[in-house]
Amino acid sequence: MPELPEVETMVRGLRPAMEGRRIVKLVALDRSMLVGGDPAAFARRTRGVTIERVDRRGKWVVVTLAGSRGFIVIQPRMTGGFWLLGPERPDHIRLEFHLEKPRSIVWYCDARRLGRIAWHDDLASAEAALARSHGPDALAITRDELAGAFGRTKRGIKPTLMDQKVTAGVGNIYADEILHAARIHPERPSASLSRAEVDRIHAAMGAILERAIALEGSTFDAGYRTVLGLEGGFLAQNAVYGRAGLPCPGCSRPIQKTKIAGLLGRPTYFCPGCQKPRRGRAAT
Ligand SMILES: [Zn+2]
Repeated sequence: MPELPEVETMVRGLRPAMEGRRIVKLVALDRSMLVGGDPAAFARRTRGVTIERVDRRGKWVVVTLAGSRGFIVIQPRMTGGFWLLGPERPDHIRLEFHLEKPRSIVWYCDARRLGRIAWHDDLASAEAALARSHGPDALAITRDELAGAFGRTKRGIKPTLMDQKVTAGVGNIYADEILHAARIHPERPSASLSRAEVDRIHAAMGAILERAIALEGSTFDAGYRTVLGLEGGFLAQNAVYGRAGLPCPGCSRPIQKTKIAGLLGRPTYFCPGCQKPRRGRAAT
């Protein structure tokens, strides 16, 4: 958290507030979160510069400055998010964009300070940093790229889907929803999937992520909010995540909550009726 739909929602909310606006000053309040400069350097590089565009790459927010003045890359990681509403200040502010015209402030807040704010002089440097930790975007990856990545690993399908080097943007919530929609057990070895099963995962990934973006992402407990402070709507209509014991929308059997290898204790939700461990074969 936040995953692709939450970061995409942040970016869509930030665009009208930031694109084409001039930075009066950029204030970095937490030096430990900065990569590629100290607060004074960030302020100096950005003063008076216009923001050209705001984009998402995987789970990163990329702010492109006009006139080849560089790129600010923000990784919200676990608890990062943006806030547009004034005049009251939100909690846990780590970065402030003071903009004009009209005068306004966009805040980046991060309760646990696990996010990162990086500066890159040029696109090549930003792209190299992205390439070190990101594979193809989960909304752009082709079916053949996905099949190739599945064939090259000995891991189970859920940790593979969550590997940002395989496909960028899918985390714990959406991996469960994608596998349920594709009717694949989360512990199936990735390399054992048939062509038809890979096709189902590829189709489900696009469909689930697009639906989550339309619903402005997923909010649970005190976590992610939209830039206007609203909760995302996806977990009010999803199939499995957080729904242990509730009936599967496909077959009405109770959803199971479990833990599987390779996920650092994070829960996995699946339907034992729709997501069988093997495709009708006896265990060997
Ligand atoms: Zn089911």
